Amino acid sequence: MVGLDNGGTCNNATVLDATGRFLVDQLVENPSLVTDGPESAVEQLAEAFTGILTMTSTPLTLVRAVGLDTPGPATADGVISSKGATNFSQPAWRGFDFRGALESRLGLPVVYNNDGNAAALYAHHVQFGPGAMLHSSISAIVGTGLGGGVIEGGRVVRGAAGMAGELGHVHIPMHGLLAEGQPTPRCNCGFYGDAESVASLTAIEKNLLPYWLGRYPDHELNRAGSLAAAAKLVRGYGERGDEMAMKIFEQQAMALGRLFTIAANYSDPSAYFVGGGVVETSPRFREWFLATVREHAALREEQARVATFALVPDLDMAGARGAAVAALESVPAA
Ligand SMILES: [Zn+2]
Repeated sequence: MVGLDNGGTCNNATVLDATGRFLVDQLVENPSLVTDGPESAVEQLAEAFTGILTMTSTPLTLVRAVGLDTPGPATADGVISSKGATNFSQPAWRGFDFRGALESRLGLPVVYNNDGNAAALYAHHVQFGPGAMLHSSISAIVGTGLGGGVIEGGRVVRGAAGMAGELGHVHIPMHGLLAEGQPTPRCNCGFYGDAESVASLTAIEKNLLPYWLGRYPDHELNRAGSLAAAAKLVRGYGERGDEMAMKIFEQQAMALGRLFTIAANYSDPSAYFVGGGVVETSPRFREWFLATVREHAALREEQARVATFALVPDLDMAGARGAAVAALESVPAA
């Protein structure tokens, strides 16, 4: 199996053998050229495919399927949204069948997932290994937005329209999360008080910093030049134990805990994973963050006994690896 992770600037490729072993243990990237339009992007993926086979000395005849993941929004079948998408701004992308185009180009079956779902699938398989099909999990990945996915019985829950697992836009209770006088945060999707409106980089810039900088008028980040610039610096301050930054991350961890409380009551998964920039930090900080998420996830005693909380591993490779796992699952065992 080959896994191809398509991103805004780079593709990342991996190979998974039939025994479930990854033959690549580092990032192998080439430019994705998505801004040049679909034709160039498909060619770049074909090049990544050929390149990774050469690098791992894998004969083309042994490849049974290819996994592709991209940022959304796209349908479950890998057709880019007709309204366009942040990463696919050129008009030619609108409604483009990305999966189908790569399948024709490579002459091999291509299995599609969005990047959040692919990373969720990878985290699930790392945690449960051969027992993956017996377990369920939820992954929340904090980036510019809040992505992730839901895995049930080892497989990605896609939904009727391919829009399951949009965890960022699930409403969470704000009572006890917001500080005194803090306005209800608004998400880019138009909702007030959903998970992404607190737990994302966008939320730090648009909702959390404007409030907290007002409470800490002498904070250095008041002089960062712009909220966008300041938002990117908050993580570093958090790692150094800065009081205001810790309040911001505590609110984010609470939001994820509350999101997981909803999951616990809704589908009672075996594992809860947290990923994204917030865990690509010092071990001490990310352990504190995960513990705070856990503290705010209100599981029943029976659930707490069996549930696992963990970080999404190898985040930069998780997309390509999850895409490859999906491809492996798609072919009947030999
Ligand atoms: Zn939203």
